[in-house]
Amino acid sequence: MADDALFDASEQKTFLTGRPYREFPEPAPLDKHGPATVLSMVNQKGGVGKTTSTINLGACLAEQGRKVLLVDLDPQGALSAGLGVSHDEEQVTVYDLLFDNTASIHAAIKHSNVSGLDLVPANIDLSAAEIQLVNEVGREHTLARALRPVRNEYDIIIIDCGPSLGLLTVNALACSHGVIIPMECEYFSLRGLALLTDTVEKVRDRINFDLDIVGILVTMFDRRTTHAREVMDRVVEVFGDRVFDTVITRTVRFPETSVAGEPIITWAPRSQGAEQYRNLARELLERTERGTA
Ligand code: ADP
Ligand code: MG
Repeated sequence: MADDALFDASEQKTFLTGRPYREFPEPAPLDKHGPATVLSMVNQKGGVGKTTSTINLGACLAEQGRKVLLVDLDPQGALSAGLGVSHDEEQVTVYDLLFDNTASIHAAIKHSNVSGLDLVPANIDLSAAEIQLVNEVGREHTLARALRPVRNEYDIIIIDCGPSLGLLTVNALACSHGVIIPMECEYFSLRGLALLTDTVEKVRDRINFDLDIVGILVTMFDRRTTHAREVMDRVVEVFGDRVFDTVITRTVRFPETSVAGEPIITWAPRSQGAEQYRNLARELLERTERGTA
């Protein structure tokens, strides 16, 4: 009995990162919106939770009173589908914003079912962009130009990147204040992370001096496997405080939400996954709004 109590107490005192547990403050309400902090969700590996994290972090930030715009920068268009935004032929997409100077971002923006959460969709047209961008003047700044008209209307813009470190992702990095790197706790993920942080550093040195890694987000964590725990220890050892204390654990709830086309906070509002993304939103705001309030 006494042992149980001890065990419970120690369980509660640490995050899955191994660091001591603490509460993240409730974000302060805003009396006006904008200018936006722009964040890119980047990892050149597919299936690590970029789109899931973009949708659910975005939804939780909106729930916490922020005006949020999500930008789909993956030709697969999973972000739009994940938010239940139906496909229509006439829709203005991010591709049009990149290459057609007459396209309006206001026409491209769709409202989601979550109040305060909007998105700019993408579709398969975007797969041609990587090659088309090569010949553009100021090719790394094409996305920045496209987003400029709405930067003062949102508090946070999150760009959901595709699984590559090509020109589209460089465009996202070039117009971002910060990068969020979702990763799965697998040995090979660590090697990919080195290439990714090199790319972020190159963009910072050459194009965007203010670019910073806001945080590394461990997703699909399975605490029952020794391998995942070992990789977690290594990630914290290498990246230290950069690793978010909030960890997203593996649950079938997330694949369900993609099918349902809604974020977890409306699909299963009281689930552990919903609480984890709410916590991530608070932790993120603590990191990005610190000192600016
Ligand atoms: P990416 O955008 O990096 O390719 P996704 O966000 O699309 O990755 O996620 C890949 C798959 O993993 C999707 O089917 C998604 O539903 C699932 N998934 C994401 N997060 C979790 C999680 N925490 N637990 C279980 N499955 C998840
Ligand atoms: Mg994706």
